[in-house]
Amino acid sequence: MMAVSAVTQYPAFEGLRGKLAYEASVRKYTWFRVGGPADILFKPADPEDLASFLSQLYAHDRGLRVLPLGVGSNILIRDGGLAQPVVQLGKAFSGIEVAGDIITAGAGALDFAVSDAATEAGLAGFEFLRGIPGTIGGAVAMNGGAYGGELSDVLLDVDVVHPDGSIARLSKADLQMAYRKATLPDGAIVISARMCGVPDDPKAIKTRVEDIVSEREGSQPLRTRTGGSTFKNPEGHKAWALIDAAGCRGLKRGGAQVSEKHCNFLINTGDATAADLEGLGEDVRAKVLTHSGVTLEWEIKRVGRAAL
Ligand SMILES: Cc1cc2nc3c(=O)[nH]c(=O)nc-3n(C[C@H](O)[C@H](O)[C@H](O)COP(=O)(O)OP(=O)(O)OC[C@H]3O[C@@H](n4cnc5c(N)ncnc54)[C@H](O)[C@@H]3O)c2cc1C
Repeated sequence: MMAVSAVTQYPAFEGLRGKLAYEASVRKYTWFRVGGPADILFKPADPEDLASFLSQLYAHDRGLRVLPLGVGSNILIRDGGLAQPVVQLGKAFSGIEVAGDIITAGAGALDFAVSDAATEAGLAGFEFLRGIPGTIGGAVAMNGGAYGGELSDVLLDVDVVHPDGSIARLSKADLQMAYRKATLPDGAIVISARMCGVPDDPKAIKTRVEDIVSEREGSQPLRTRTGGSTFKNPEGHKAWALIDAAGCRGLKRGGAQVSEKHCNFLINTGDATAADLEGLGEDVRAKVLTHSGVTLEWEIKRVGRAAL
């Protein structure tokens, strides 16, 4: 029987090489910069270290599920923090390799870095990733997309670690990817992805990338504490247009505000709580429902406990 830590209900982990912290602040790893601490935060040294962490948790409690965190660009952590363990895949998972028209990237690799590597290698299909400020792990989980492209267009397969610590390769078909959605097996954490591009002139790719970058600068509040698109576009509608029509542009609650620049973005103006941001999102949903009869679905992942 594994010893149980005095600090929490978690086991006293053995032989881990990564960084383990209890009662760890994780808000700084999210774009919104809000939310309470995680009971436990682990930054594994490599895939084997991650597998060891997961298998020790599994031996302790098979029902425990870990929250994988990328760079927190599509997540809202509630003010009461996270009871579930959080894993963040950092530098050790950020490698990018190009071989022919195949790109293999670690789950911690940044989307823009993968797009840049593809441009340099003369591989088209990754232009859209230049404007998404997340990791490849997050892009798989969310089927990230923009400007007519999405990750499922280029994805071949992913390597994942299951909650029992076993590592497996899953094909794109296994993930049943749809608009901003992938169906990962229960508790699976993506550790790398293989993607395929189409050979093209690097100069032509670069021009397309530059167009995307300047278009985003003009239309999105990129240097603010935001979580990207708050709601998915409902079939046949643009979420921002419904929000605008319902009179929500600039709407406030506490320190949270609907962006004036792009009204499907919520902003932490400085001292917002997670409750302000989530509450404002619910205000917007209610107003849009009343105004247009459409129910908006959250795209931002909301996780954790409300404050007591
Ligand atoms: C300014 C701005 C602009 C944005 N523009 C776009 C856009 O154009 N298109 C778009 O699609 N998104 C956009 N987003 C949202 C966001 O960047 C994407 O959803 C991105 O893919 C999230 O990646 P992340 O690494 O930050 O994931 P996080 O926000 O950290 O996590 C998001 C979800 O993915 C899961 N996840 C993360 N890593 C893994 C992993 N390794 N294995 C399994 N699950 C994992 C998390 O558990 C969580 O459920 C934008 C966000 C911002 C702030």
